[in-house]
Amino acid sequence: MFDSLIRRSFLKAAAVCGLGAPLAVAGVKVPEGQLTGISSGSSDAAFRTPSFASLKSFLDSIPAIDTHDHLHPFDQLPGLVETERGRGVNLYGLWKSSYLTKIDNLAEWRDAEPFESWWTRAKEDFKNVHATGFYRYMHTSFKDLYGVDFDRISDSKAKVLDQRIFENYRDERWLFHVITDRANIELMFIDPFWARFDFRISYPFQVLVFNVTTLTRGFHASEFDGHPFDDPFVFARTQGLPPVKSLDDYLSLLDQMFTIAKKNGAACLKTTAAYERTLQFDDVPKGRATRVFGHPRSALAAADVKEFEDFIMWRLVELSAKHDLPFQIHTGDARIGGSSPMFLVNLIDANPRTKFILFHGGFPWVGETGAIVQKYPDRVWIDSVWLPTISFTLAKRAYHEWLEVLPSNRIMWGSDDYSAEGIFGETELTRRCLAEVLAEKVDRGDLPDWYARQIGKQILRDNALELFPQLQARIVKEEVGQHQVQRHGP
Ligand SMILES: [Zn+2]
Repeated sequence: MFDSLIRRSFLKAAAVCGLGAPLAVAGVKVPEGQLTGISSGSSDAAFRTPSFASLKSFLDSIPAIDTHDHLHPFDQLPGLVETERGRGVNLYGLWKSSYLTKIDNLAEWRDAEPFESWWTRAKEDFKNVHATGFYRYMHTSFKDLYGVDFDRISDSKAKVLDQRIFENYRDERWLFHVITDRANIELMFIDPFWARFDFRISYPFQVLVFNVTTLTRGFHASEFDGHPFDDPFVFARTQGLPPVKSLDDYLSLLDQMFTIAKKNGAACLKTTAAYERTLQFDDVPKGRATRVFGHPRSALAAADVKEFEDFIMWRLVELSAKHDLPFQIHTGDARIGGSSPMFLVNLIDANPRTKFILFHGGFPWVGETGAIVQKYPDRVWIDSVWLPTISFTLAKRAYHEWLEVLPSNRIMWGSDDYSAEGIFGETELTRRCLAEVLAEKVDRGDLPDWYARQIGKQILRDNALELFPQLQARIVKEEVGQHQVQRHGP
C-alpha cells in the first residue's frame, strides 16, 4: 500500500510542478539491489520502552512535511568532488557538507587522490566528536542506510563505504529513494540561498521558499556585486520591471518581487539575517532610510546601514502580511550576541497580521521562544528544524516545555541539510526525539496514547498543512497517519 501511495504522490507532485515524465519516473521506488543502501528498519527501537517503540513506529509511518532544507540541484550538490573515478559524492563529500565541520576540522580532499591517502589524514579527525550531535546524526544515517557503524569503522570498511556512496550518487534516484522512501518525507521546503531570486525548482517534492535576506541591503547596487541571483536590481532588469532610482522605486520593486515569488509557488519568506547582524530591528522613519538610499557602504556609517536595514525589515514584515507569505526567521546560533528571538519582540508586537516562524526553536533560548509564542499565540509559530541534531537533549527539553506552554498546532520541524544522508539522519533524530518525549508523557500518565500520536502527527505534518493550506493540493498520503490517530481516538 505504501509503495503505491508513494508512486501516486510523485506523479501528482510532478504534475503540479509542471515537471515531465523523467522526474516522475525517478520517484518510483528503486528496484532491489540497484542502489547500495540496505533496507533495514531504524536501529533504535530495541533500547527503549514499549510506548517508545509503538510511538516511534507510528511516527515513522507519517509522511512528513519538512519545512526547511538546502537540497541543491543534483549537479550542484555541495558534496561533489573530483575523485579517481571522476566527479562525484564520496565519504569526504558527505562529511564535508555535514554540520560536523562547524565544530571540527576535517582533512581537505585533494583532487583525484586515492581514498586511502585522504583517509590516512582524516580518520583521526573524528576522535573527539563521537558524542556530538553533529557527528551522531551522520552516524545514524550510515548505520540505517548502509549498515555501517562509523564508531568502529575499519580502514577497509571505510573504503567500501566510500565506494558505495560514490556509486549511489551516480544516479539521482538515490536522493528520491532516501528522501521519499526511507525518510518518508512527502514535501520539502528548500531555501535556495545559492540562487535566491531564481524561483525555479529542481525536485517534484520541493516547495519554493523566497529567501529575502539580501533585500535589506538594497541601499546600493554595489552590495550585490558578483551575485546576480541575490541582486534585486539585476532581477528588476531581467524581469523588465521599471528602473530603481529612489527608495519609493525600491519599495515598489519589493512589492513586485513578492507577487512574482508567490506566482512561482513560494509558500513563505526566509531570512538568515542573524548570521550577519543583530535581530534587533528599530522602527526607523522613512526619511532616514531615504537619506541612506543610493550611497555605497563606503560612504556610510555602520549606524546608517543598520537604520536602512531596519527600515526595510519592517517593510518586509508588512509585505509578508499583505501577500500572506509567513516569515521564517533564523533565530539562535549564528552571531549569538544578537540572535536571541527576544530581539524580535518589538517587531512581532507591532505586526499582528504577520505570521512569524521562529527557527531552530531559538537555540539555545528555547524557553524564551516558548514564552514568545505563549504571549503572541495568534501570530507566532516555532520551527524546531535542526534542533534535535544540534542537541538531542536540549530538543527533548524544548518539546517537553513547548507542549506545556503552547497549543500543539504551533510547532513544526525540518531537517536543514545538504545530502540525502544528512537529511535522513536529521529526520530520524527528530522522529526519535519526538517519540521519546511523547512516550515519556504517556508513561507518566500525562497523556493518553492516542493524543500523543496526534501531537506527533501534527508536528511532523499537519501543522505545516494548517499554516500552508495551499499544500493540500500537492499531497496524497494523509490517510496513512490519520487512520491510526482516529482508530485510537475517543
Ligand atoms: Zn538552513
